[in-house]
Amino acid sequence: MVGLTFSAMNKKQKKKLKRILVALALFAVFEVLEIAGVFDALPYGVWVEFAAFLVPYLIAGHDVLAKAWHGIVHRQPFDENLLMSIATIGAFALVFFPETEPHMAEGAAVMLFYQVGTLFESYAVGKTRKSIADMMDIAPEFANVMRDGELVQVDPYDVAVGDEIVCKPGERVPLDGVVVSGKSQLDTSALTGESVPRVVEEGVQVTSGCVNTTGKLVIRTTSVYEQSTVQRILELVENASEKKARTENFISRFARVYTPIVVGLAVLIAVASPLLFGFSWSLSVQSALIFLVVSCPCALVISVPLSFFGGIGAASRKGILVKGSSYLETLATVDTVAFDKTGTLTNGTFGVVAIHAPGSVDRDLLLSYAAHAEAYSDHPIAVSVVESYSGELDRAAIEEVEERSGKGVAARVNAHRVLVGNAALMGEADIDVPDCHLVGTILHVAVDGEYYGHIVIADMMKENAKEAVDALRDVGVREIVMLTGDREEVAAAVAGELGIAEYRAQLMPQDKMTCVEELLEHRDGRGGVAFVGDGINDAPVLMRADVGIAMGAMGSDAAIEAADIVLMNDNPASIARAMGIARKTMRIVRQNIVFALAVKIVIMILALPMIGISTMWLAVFGDVGVSVLAILNAMRCLR
Ligand code: ADP
Ligand code: MG
Repeated sequence: MVGLTFSAMNKKQKKKLKRILVALALFAVFEVLEIAGVFDALPYGVWVEFAAFLVPYLIAGHDVLAKAWHGIVHRQPFDENLLMSIATIGAFALVFFPETEPHMAEGAAVMLFYQVGTLFESYAVGKTRKSIADMMDIAPEFANVMRDGELVQVDPYDVAVGDEIVCKPGERVPLDGVVVSGKSQLDTSALTGESVPRVVEEGVQVTSGCVNTTGKLVIRTTSVYEQSTVQRILELVENASEKKARTENFISRFARVYTPIVVGLAVLIAVASPLLFGFSWSLSVQSALIFLVVSCPCALVISVPLSFFGGIGAASRKGILVKGSSYLETLATVDTVAFDKTGTLTNGTFGVVAIHAPGSVDRDLLLSYAAHAEAYSDHPIAVSVVESYSGELDRAAIEEVEERSGKGVAARVNAHRVLVGNAALMGEADIDVPDCHLVGTILHVAVDGEYYGHIVIADMMKENAKEAVDALRDVGVREIVMLTGDREEVAAAVAGELGIAEYRAQLMPQDKMTCVEELLEHRDGRGGVAFVGDGINDAPVLMRADVGIAMGAMGSDAAIEAADIVLMNDNPASIARAMGIARKTMRIVRQNIVFALAVKIVIMILALPMIGISTMWLAVFGDVGVSVLAILNAMRCLR
């Protein structure tokens, strides 16, 4: 996949490639002349040879010299440019030691191969970046709206909430909305990694970024473009590279400390071996130069961020948005996962199972009160209650709506005080509630301080919830806990069905926080704690856990904002998949660190004058070879 194709390069890379090729051609010619003994035959042959190799050297490496000089001037000299400059200038300078062989050819070669390596690096990084950008190519270019009886293309930014837009087959849905008319299939793969098309028709919600494949749709928008799903995702991805992993920070700090040490050691080798051990100056300087060439940390400086980048890319292809490499790093260590129930393990679309009301109360009226009180809530329960109400909502009759997190809602409907929620909410108003023999979530309704009856609703388990729990066990998660604000009976039923032994029910939002804090405290070893949730009241817990994972399609904006990882497909089975990707990424990062350091240390030791086995050529291949292998290894993360 890294096949170096000229057309895939950017301008700067093409220019650099041409420069390297010219330098390489000249170098080859001079090298042939040298081997043929042409230089030796000339008067002042060594100096002619010096001048000859200086040409390809400068063509290939003048920018490296300039960067090193720039670093010295700005008092931040210690980077790989300085290492390469000293080493290659040193190789040329060996001409001043007449008793040794000259090393001009190696000096030029080191620079040439180093530049081939950096070109390859920038190509690999560019390619990875591009493939993520391609995957994230979800931004719509226009929206079709009716203006004066004609369909015109406008900027998605110019569409208001409630406008009707037309989406033709082959076009991307530009804004979030509800289908008003038409029937079609949507390709959601760019958002969710899910390849099965989604059938949509009148009344169904559609998400911006999906591609409309078969039929024409008229959509009434429900958000402006700035707040659409597309914009939210793009923002998340753009910010991802800012949050660096500890390993990444370690590498850049490492390079800053390591380079001066290496330069110091090289000076020590050059000076101490002749003075203390009686080696010749030329041999000592040569050893020091080899030492410098091989010590270049570029293999790590490039391959580690590239691995994380690849891991984030691989995850986003599966509909998993990771907001920064540090979260990938933490996710790899997770061995405790706490789940919210409603909307996370269950669909969050409730059906009405029964309406229980005392004889005098009209059931339709009971449901009507509940639906009106819930009309402004985003809670999955509220949305479902409103949906199951068949009458027309009279929004003008609703006043003073107040959402009681983890309990329910209070509102004034037609001048009556209406409370809808669980037993805790009723308890607050000193209203006694009867027991209900049905298993399900119970919405008690009180009107003007009197008990009015209750609605029993039931949620459906997500099809992949069981698979998600099993997959987590398979990847070695030790502890799985379910935390819910729902009734004990419902919690027990859901936990039992999923095979989750540990669950806590009837939790207030702050109790969920306490539970997660307990898990954080009681963990043994280094295992991280992940919390998975969807609601507004989950947001603080998502922030508190080592890794917060939110449902992206169903989830509330607050949860998506607070989370470190967002599952665009709302599929809890993606968690185990994300952990697999995280672990693979960390494995590759570690391989690269160990491999690069080991090879370099061996060549460095072999370069010491008392051993003297390493040559400049070995050093060049040691450095460039390790970099290329590390990069190729890092690119595996993308798959
Ligand atoms: P979960 O932890 O399962 O996601 P929440 O913490 O959101 O649930 O809610 C806990 C309980 O509070 C619900 O089971 C329900 O009884 C009650 N509740 C919360 N919001 C509402 C609402 N808008 N209408 C009615 N009841 C609600
Ligand atoms: Mg929830």
